[in-house]
Amino acid sequence: MTALRVPLIAGNWKCNKTSTEAYKLVEEMLPGLRNIRGVEKLLCPPFTALMAVFRLIKDSDIRLGAQNMYWEEQGAYTGEISPRMLAEFCQYVILGHSERRTYFGESNEQVNRKVRAAIAHHLMPLICVGETLEENEVGRAAGVISRQVREALVGLDILDAEQIVIAYEPVWAIGTGRAATAAGANTLIRNVIRPTLASLFGEDIAQSVRVLYGGSVDPGNAGDFFRQPEIDGALVGGASLKARSFIDIVEAAQA
Ligand code: PEP
Repeated sequence: MTALRVPLIAGNWKCNKTSTEAYKLVEEMLPGLRNIRGVEKLLCPPFTALMAVFRLIKDSDIRLGAQNMYWEEQGAYTGEISPRMLAEFCQYVILGHSERRTYFGESNEQVNRKVRAAIAHHLMPLICVGETLEENEVGRAAGVISRQVREALVGLDILDAEQIVIAYEPVWAIGTGRAATAAGANTLIRNVIRPTLASLFGEDIAQSVRVLYGGSVDPGNAGDFFRQPEIDGALVGGASLKARSFIDIVEAAQA
């Protein structure tokens, strides 16, 4: 039986756009995005632009997400943003992005603490996993990814697992213009990510959790990914910063 998984297209703006620029970009996107049904649309601006984007999309079906958060609810953690703060505006939070793992030393254990805190505050964690170029070349991709998934999900039960989304993002494909092949990403998800989910939570959850692909998705290659049976949408970086290209990618998911 094929599970019904609504496609999700998430725009990860990374460290780009002031709140004024964010407002303008969403104003440009809104007319195009508004008419697209059957695809969940998610914008993840930087923290400082969340409020501006929230004001524009709050009466639409477009969802809002953050790109990171701390796991504590509140307290003396200078500079951090808590799940409780995000829950006022957001439905989603990206966790474990490779840029956080690489530049800020985030470990699987820290990702797991964030995942549990997000779920406790009714934020859906969009959990990023993926192998580096070196791990890929020495044939370690499957082991690394399976471990990232297992360690991110420690302590979750089946009900929690229903709240998660996974993004398979090979590190070598992010921001490089060198996307994975659609068939290769599909195989990795089918042979590694879903079986890992099945071993933790059973086959029903493994088939119902959405797994996105991320890494140099653009309007030219998006359709190839979305035609794959295991790929339920995309986490889009660079191409989500232009209204037309993001709308085109969402339209490709609808088709
Ligand atoms: C990302 O930021 O998660 C990403 C996939 O970036 P890009 O689409 O630019 O490769």
